[in-house]
Amino acid sequence: MSEIDCHELLRQLWTYLDGEADAPLCEDLQRHIARCLPCRQHAEFERRLREIIQYKCRGERAPEPLRRDLARLLGITIQTG
Ligand SMILES: [Zn+2]
Repeated sequence: MSEIDCHELLRQLWTYLDGEADAPLCEDLQRHIARCLPCRQHAEFERRLREIIQYKCRGERAPEPLRRDLARLLGITIQTG
């Protein structure tokens, strides 16, 4: 069983989120995410960012709850309206 570090996780994160990582790699990434809080937060952030990008691609604004969640993850306050 191979262990990946934080650097490797970040390098593979988009492949993983795209669903293009091999099954063994997926398991390694998931195992790392499960026990590493910074990487878990980062993975969650990237996942939400992808959702926003997908909304943008459809010509829609990111829904308000998504923007709030994202801002909270970034530790910033957003003005709404
Ligand atoms: Zn990590």
